[in-house]
Amino acid sequence: HGPGVALSVSGLTVDYGPVRALREVSLEVPEGGFVAVLGGNGAGKTTLLRAVSGVLSFHGGTVRDGDVTAHGRPLRGLRPDQIVADGVVQVPEGRDVFARMTVGENLRAGALGTRRDRRRTAATRARVLELFPVLAERDRQKAGLLSGGEQQMLAIGRALMAEPRLLLLDEPSLGLAPIMVERIAETIAAINRQGTAVLLIEQNAALALELASHAYVLEVGAVALSGPSAELAASEEVRRRYLGPA
Ligand code: ATP
Repeated sequence: HGPGVALSVSGLTVDYGPVRALREVSLEVPEGGFVAVLGGNGAGKTTLLRAVSGVLSFHGGTVRDGDVTAHGRPLRGLRPDQIVADGVVQVPEGRDVFARMTVGENLRAGALGTRRDRRRTAATRARVLELFPVLAERDRQKAGLLSGGEQQMLAIGRALMAEPRLLLLDEPSLGLAPIMVERIAETIAAINRQGTAVLLIEQNAALALELASHAYVLEVGAVALSGPSAELAASEEVRRRYLGPA
């Protein structure tokens, strides 16, 4: 678990009261790597992200056992803002932008608490607007008036303002038109190529296996399968259960 590993989850067990949502889940994201977690409804994907980003208790969940380490530093017990300061930043499911704030204000909010100087924040903002030019065009618009795809871009852009070393994405394709899914996917791939490690949670298995180099399949809270994406994409079981007929 030394340097070279962006995220290490080992033996993670999580309960919501009497409901066990994760059972001894272990996975690893290499520094700069791209890993996907697949699984159907209720498999525990969102719970896994909540446990990493430190918001589990806000949803009534408890870590029963196991460790979460990012870049060699234990995250268990840290507050969400401390985890962000450690470079681990989540783009929440359902986008969740600040609807009544402008696009520009949402982006500025993403940099709050990172204690970086203005020049650096401006440089990061320029990089985000290069990835998502539409956000520059919409700078003074209320975020709530953006299309679904644009809100997803803003949510990712806002997360990038915190300069993550590891980006956690929860179903970024959900509810978007195919053309938007493609654009978001291309951008996520570009973010990863620029050096940010990515942990992508997706129900769209075809998309996830195309983007990620390695993937894990969660079933009722446990890792059922894992391996290089190409191997999983070729696996009979994955094809049957998650990819459908070719
Ligand atoms: P989905 O894609 O539907 O969000 P998921 O794979 O992300 O599914 P989770 O949301 O992590 O799955 O849910 C895992 C299990 O934990 C499910 O059985 C779910 O009902 C339960 N669960 C999730 N959140 C809570 C909560 N706040 N309180 C109680 N149980 C919860």
